[in-house]
Amino acid sequence: MATIEMKNIVKKYGDGFPAVNDVSIDVADGEFLILVGPSGCGKSTLLRMIVGLEDITSGDMLIGGDRVNDLAPRDRNLSMVFQNYALYPHLTVYENIAFPLRLAKWKDADIDAKVREASKTLDLDEHLERKPANLSGGQRQRVAMGRAIVRDAQAFLFDEPLSNLDAKLRGQMRTEIARLQKKLGITTVYVTHDQTEAMTLGDRVAVMKRGILQQLATPRELYEQP
Ligand code: ADP
Ligand code: ADP
Repeated sequence: MATIEMKNIVKKYGDGFPAVNDVSIDVADGEFLILVGPSGCGKSTLLRMIVGLEDITSGDMLIGGDRVNDLAPRDRNLSMVFQNYALYPHLTVYENIAFPLRLAKWKDADIDAKVREASKTLDLDEHLERKPANLSGGQRQRVAMGRAIVRDAQAFLFDEPLSNLDAKLRGQMRTEIARLQKKLGITTVYVTHDQTEAMTLGDRVAVMKRGILQQLATPRELYEQP
């Protein structure tokens, strides 16, 4: 678990208007921060700079107090949950969740204990032998989160994880993610263009527009603004 400090972050693609323009946000240890704004406002670019998938033009990115500007994604120990889940279709739920631990060469017994613990937390223990194709959208989402949990990452990053789901499931998963985030107490940054998600999920909301951080406040503070 860790803090995420964004200090005067700028991202320019080519020589146009900056996609992210001097954004500074401190995410506290265990906090759930929502990044919200219309399409093209720079929220994915900012998330990708936290993860290390995008170079930072200027400014500093600190994770757990360490500057990570020059660190590769795999050395940042973060877990990103994508919109399309990125599950392996030929692997069972068990093996999908175990995958990062197999890569890290954990012992079978340790993997087994970790996978069973994570699948219990996520109510997946009845489905461990199934393949992703035989799961519902919500179950697939939970497998993706399981894979993120077992890695004991310093933070979770979500890029519009619910936008492919129907409204009912989206509501359920929203509740599920909020519950899990509090249970695990893990620092989380969650990108969405959905106002409802922004106002119901997080501890604080960062509102972006054209690359600029317009507001940074709790949902309550945002509601009470005239
Ligand atoms: P959002 O996630 O809020 O929809 P993005 O971060 O994807 O916004 O994009 C912010 C701006 O940066 C947009 O104007 C977009 O066109 C531009 N942009 C994003 N990725 C690239 C890229 N790889 N090359 C050039 N411009 C990009
Ligand atoms: P390391 O300390 O070498 O990064 P990790 O256990 O953190 O070891 O990750 C092992 C590998 O798994 C890394 O190469 C990382 O890129 C990859 N990885 C990261 N996230 C996931 C994921 N959600 N699913 C599968 N593999 C992942």
